[in-house]
Amino acid sequence: MKRLAAFALCCLLVAFLLVRCVQTRPPAPPSPSPSPIKVAAITPVIVQETPSATPQVDPTVAPPPTPTRIPGQGPLVAIDPGHGGEDLGARHFNRAGEMDLHESTITLQLALRIGARLQALGYRVFYTRDGDYDPNLYERDVTGDGEIDLRDVVQTRTDLINESGADILLSVHLNAWECDDEELWRATGGTETYYCPDRPFGDRNLRLATLVHQNVLAALRSVGHEPSDRGVLIDHAPAYPGDPGHHLMILGPKDEIIVRPSNMPGVLSEPIFITCDAEAYLIMREDAQEALAQAYVDAIVQYFKEYPLQ
Ligand SMILES: [Zn+2]
Repeated sequence: MKRLAAFALCCLLVAFLLVRCVQTRPPAPPSPSPSPIKVAAITPVIVQETPSATPQVDPTVAPPPTPTRIPGQGPLVAIDPGHGGEDLGARHFNRAGEMDLHESTITLQLALRIGARLQALGYRVFYTRDGDYDPNLYERDVTGDGEIDLRDVVQTRTDLINESGADILLSVHLNAWECDDEELWRATGGTETYYCPDRPFGDRNLRLATLVHQNVLAALRSVGHEPSDRGVLIDHAPAYPGDPGHHLMILGPKDEIIVRPSNMPGVLSEPIFITCDAEAYLIMREDAQEALAQAYVDAIVQYFKEYPLQ
């Protein structure tokens, strides 16, 4: 947020709503006349290691114990592609005002590329979604607050990850920011990586976030883009002056909002801003996606060198 410090407060508020919407706020309403990108419906594929997708409805019931690790198998990495289904996430609009890219498509493409590369190295992979759908498939009130909203979607993702017994989690999103100055937000991009320090494994969170961040920056440079390094950030950093901040639901500890926290080290990566023209068109490129996927894999491989499974 350093680079935004000089911007008008209203811009910061908009930035907060957009940037931090991913975990605790409902997605922005669809634009009046979008031109939706056709996304082929993909039948969910349940890989062998995938546990039953049946999160506990009753929040007073503890999640089931994690499955016993089968000897000889590699680390289990949970990959969480942000958004999906009707939740398109953040969007890019061309100069004609037509939506030409949305977040949920790219996060899925990146996730599948990362997972394929990890599996080729002997890792096991769990996806919170492997197609264009909402992981809260049954639209249940899994938080037990009497409402069905975005919190239930994120809680469902967390429950699924916990039930998978994953050793680490990687949540992939794309950042977004808009303000009254169109030329400014179309030119504003950068790379952010979030982690939560307030967990028993906070040191591992920071290390994983640092590795992800460094590798993502290097990958972007390798495909000809000089990213703005916006830093490795704590997940409840204030987004604007006076913001009390709150943990990202998929990373933070149990509190009044997070009823069942994730129980393994994890990070949330925002490699680019989809609202930035140069970065939106970059992320559409296969070579850029491949470089980014390899960056996440390199970070994960290095992490497990430093923190091998016991
Ligand atoms: Zn997002």
